[in-house]
Amino acid sequence: MTDTADAVVIGTGVIGAAVAYELAQTGLRVVAIDRLGGVGSGSTSSSSSIVRFHYSTFEGVAASWESKFSWESWPEYLGSCPEESLASFIKTGCLILDGSTQRERVLPLFDRVGVPYECWDAETIRQRVPGMDPGRYAPPKPVTDAAFWADADGELGAYYTPDGGFIDDPQLAARNLMAAAKRRGTEVQLREQVVGIVQKNARVQGIRLRSGSVIQSPVVVNAAGPYSGQVNALAGVTGEFRIRTRPLRQEVHSVPAPAGYARGELGPVVTDGDLGTYFRSHFGGQLIVGSAEPACDALHWIDTRMLSTPSPPSRRGIRRYSAWPEESRRWASRPVPLVSLHYTTWPTTGSRSTTVPHWLGSMWPSARAATSSKTLLWPAVLWRP
Ligand SMILES: Cc1cc2nc3c(=O)[nH]c(=O)nc-3n(C[C@H](O)[C@H](O)[C@H](O)COP(=O)(O)OP(=O)(O)OC[C@H]3O[C@@H](n4cnc5c(N)ncnc54)[C@H](O)[C@@H]3O)c2cc1C
Repeated sequence: MTDTADAVVIGTGVIGAAVAYELAQTGLRVVAIDRLGGVGSGSTSSSSSIVRFHYSTFEGVAASWESKFSWESWPEYLGSCPEESLASFIKTGCLILDGSTQRERVLPLFDRVGVPYECWDAETIRQRVPGMDPGRYAPPKPVTDAAFWADADGELGAYYTPDGGFIDDPQLAARNLMAAAKRRGTEVQLREQVVGIVQKNARVQGIRLRSGSVIQSPVVVNAAGPYSGQVNALAGVTGEFRIRTRPLRQEVHSVPAPAGYARGELGPVVTDGDLGTYFRSHFGGQLIVGSAEPACDALHWIDTRMLSTPSPPSRRGIRRYSAWPEESRRWASRPVPLVSLHYTTWPTTGSRSTTVPHWLGSMWPSARAATSSKTLLWPAVLWRP
């Protein structure tokens, strides 16, 4: 194995794989390291993989819009061979209900960047997305609050971006990127943990692995996702950043779409700040439902030590977070009507009663990524000599 490189990338999630590919394209000798056994096996594998453009800054909108063109021309972007299995960009459109990212802030950014959009009223929502209730319920309330079940007190409008959608397999997307990087000479070392950043005169010299070996490199990229704060601490640079990163536990549910929803086709990605959730269609008549982290729900920040066993979670972890089907229940108030149902979380640690829409009566909601984790704002950090 190589003990020198032009650049070392710590982490082989979708960010690390993309960085490795771009660096390798410039002719650098890249080594990519991951403590897990497979490329894209970290938080990337649990992503809802939504491709959207409604960000609150010009940079966010412009970067996401630019990335759309790479997703659309994925084989060409990767220079892949025809027999390679590739991730796909599924264009469903993206509907942003009122109460979500501020329309008065975002639409001028769309105009600047050139992102196409349409403004919809409640009647248009009903027509274009059959089965969707455009009722207004804001502000988001905890599902344990009786007011959560109160009737709508008005109707919502929305804006719609026809070019939004999702990637059908985010882990495969990371593997595609790393395969492309390897074709350009990148070496990937899996099951290897970076435990030290070698420095001299405050300049990076390389990394030290748990196995004891050292890879010398003048450039080290921190693409460690939820662990990025930990890697910054290894380098002793946390004091230099205005933004710190730490992991936030997330839960995403997979539930059957109600009969007739979106005419049985893939519906749009829906950002629902009114109820504090987001959801999107998935294949097989499923909907994927996640939290938009409304103020009424506690955020579950976690200690990076708990991430040492990414999956399955420890029994302690399950017990602590088993009362968390909140996103599904919150989303469930969009379609009507409601009945009581006995449900359980996965993996099973007990059961309880709840109230869900009647179409859920025949199934048990399962947590697709019951203990997946993500970091808010974990930029790739590049140290240069
Ligand atoms: C539930 C959920 C839903 C999401 N939904 C969306 C969405 O719809 N749209 C969207 O754009 N984004 C979404 N995200 C965010 C998106 O998935 C992440 O931004 C992205 O996958 C992060 O990729 P990454 O490469 O930075 O991190 P990761 O995929 O976590 O990769 C980091 C890697 O670094 C490795 N590593 C860490 N420390 C070390 C070390 N010391 N030594 C060696 N290796 C190390 C880890 O093992 C890991 O494999 C979601 C995330 C989650 C969890």
